[in-house]
Formats: sequence, structure tokens, C-alpha cells
Amino acid sequence: MNYHYANENSQPVGPYTAEQMLQLQQQGVLHENSWVIAEGDMEWKPYAALFPLPIEDSQNAGRPKFCTSCGAENESQAQFCNGCGTKLAQGNERL
Ligand SMILES: [Zn+2]
Repeated sequence: MNYHYANENSQPVGPYTAEQMLQLQQQGVLHENSWVIAEGDMEWKPYAALFPLPIEDSQNAGRPKFCTSCGAENESQAQFCNGCGTKLAQGNERL
């Protein structure tokens, strides 16, 4: 099974294997609300609906990281802002 995800311009990107999709999520490219579609499927779904987050991520899901530059909400483990690409503060670090 291969998957595509929708980039910031709502264009499908891929195909990627499930393993690659997980890597993209770990790299912060994809997050739980990223739109993902399985090959042969007609319906886009949130990333988390197709790839349940590991327990560790689920525990962090309630603590989103907000970009200090544009205010966009990013997943807690994101390193760069989904909205503007600014490097996000890690832990208690303040930019
Ligand atoms: Zn931002």
C-alpha cells in the first residue's frame, strides 16, 4: 500500500510507503492533521486516522507548539513551523 499526502498547496506528494510516511511524520513534515490518501482510495483522511500515533506522541498531542513568528500551531515535536518554516524553540528554550 502506498500513500500520498497533500502539501501546503494542496497538491498530492508521493507515493510513499507506510514506513516512509512514518518517517515524514517523525521529521515533522507530516502531522496528525495532515491530509493523506491511500492509493486506490477516493477519500482524503487526517494522517492520524491512517497512522495512529505512537503512545509517546499521543501523550504530547495535547501540548502543541506555537510558532513565535507567525503563531501557527505545530505538533509538539515539530522542529520547523508548518506555516512559515521558522525554527521552533525546543523544550523551554526561548527564541
Ligand atoms: Zn510560523
